[in-house]
Amino acid sequence: MRHARRNPYTERGIARVPCIKCGAPSKHQWRICSTDAWTAVCRPCDEAINAIIAEWAFGAPEANRLLAKYRRQFPEDQGPDNPT
Ligand SMILES: [Zn+2]
Repeated sequence: MRHARRNPYTERGIARVPCIKCGAPSKHQWRICSTDAWTAVCRPCDEAINAIIAEWAFGAPEANRLLAKYRRQFPEDQGPDNPT
């Protein structure tokens, strides 16, 4: 795997890693047990994963509540990561 990584990315490091799904700069990371690696994803793809997993785990009403909370916590219009 091209982006296999055993340790989590740092907050600064992750922005330099392309999203595994769409190639955009990453914002979040998931540890997928079947790959035994940390996998970087961009903000929109992270929301998509959260939506799928939250509904799978908690059902649609709770998933909707959790996704609304997620969007408040991680607004999409944050613009590009500042390259400090
Ligand atoms: Zn993405």
